[in-house]
Amino acid sequence: MKAKSNIEALISYKVNPAHATIKLDANEAKNYIFDKPLKNTIFSMHLYPDNDMTELKEIIAIKMGVKPSDLIIGNGSSELLELIVKSYVDKDEVILSFEPSFSMYKVYAQIHGATYIEVPSEKDFSLNMALMKSYTKKYNPKLVFLCTPNNPTGYQIPKDEIIDFVTSTNALVVVDEAYMEFAEKDTSVFKEAINYPNLIVARTFSKAFGLAAARIGYATANESIMRILNSVKPPYNVNTLSQYYAVEAMKRYDLMQVFTSEIKSKRTIVMNHLKRLGITVYESEGNFIFFKERVDLYQTLLENDIMIRAFSGSLTGYYRVTIGDDFENQAFMNAMEAIKNETR
Ligand SMILES: *Cc1c(COP(=O)(O)O)cnc(C)c1O
Repeated sequence: MKAKSNIEALISYKVNPAHATIKLDANEAKNYIFDKPLKNTIFSMHLYPDNDMTELKEIIAIKMGVKPSDLIIGNGSSELLELIVKSYVDKDEVILSFEPSFSMYKVYAQIHGATYIEVPSEKDFSLNMALMKSYTKKYNPKLVFLCTPNNPTGYQIPKDEIIDFVTSTNALVVVDEAYMEFAEKDTSVFKEAINYPNLIVARTFSKAFGLAAARIGYATANESIMRILNSVKPPYNVNTLSQYYAVEAMKRYDLMQVFTSEIKSKRTIVMNHLKRLGITVYESEGNFIFFKERVDLYQTLLENDIMIRAFSGSLTGYYRVTIGDDFENQAFMNAMEAIKNETR
């Protein structure tokens, strides 16, 4: 049975089946919030979950400085990103994003028959918003994805440049702030979204809160966008257990702040070590570092029981390593040092 032609042509997201003790490939956090069993709680597993996610929206709203009604919650922010494409982008309309950026943007564009156009990054992987503007003039996109800090490179777009861009275009601008909690300087436009007709801002519990297993993300936008997204969202999309864990995580917001500030200082240590080894590294505001090295690095590290993310195509020889705990970072730094000494 043949699927739709755009689906037959789809290059889907591949989850790497490889295993290693030191897992620094997927930007996951540590289990710092739920490292002890939670108090005995009986869940009403026979009932559908709270579709309005009242408790979760309330606690996110307080921490993020918005109203509960300004929020939509998804089964991972991935679900929300697709929901946005599904709701706003017709077949053959254009979606723009920088390259490289989060690989799922392209997948969602393809699934929904949109034309995905990549705006190249600068040589140092910084994101040139003037170039984004000129592509926007040329291609008249329906939607633009901006990831800041950007995955996989870690580059952050200044807040004034995002707002300037939003006001310069009719396109729907989706700002993905999956890593904002790790940025040295908070350049979030989350609270700003309700003031613009064409801005959506998405966040996730998968990275800074260490809740990747629960699959929870949230987004905010003005009332009319919220109405559309809520009408397209599948009912009961976030299960009861995940809602519970997300509420408990938000109650421990201060632990998240401690964790992210520790990651920031560990990031500096790993960054400086790689620089000392003469490796080309790029400044990062995420919980990861993007760098360039010899092509067989991935395999060599895997033999040392360390897994990082390797890129292919035009990014062959580029890697992204997640900042882990001290033990993991030290193992990675030692392995890199040994590899560099060998090739010298
Ligand atoms: C990890 C990630 C997400 C989404 O993660 P979910 O687990 O689906 O919430 C979204 N955007 C970027 C850039 C990411 O790296």
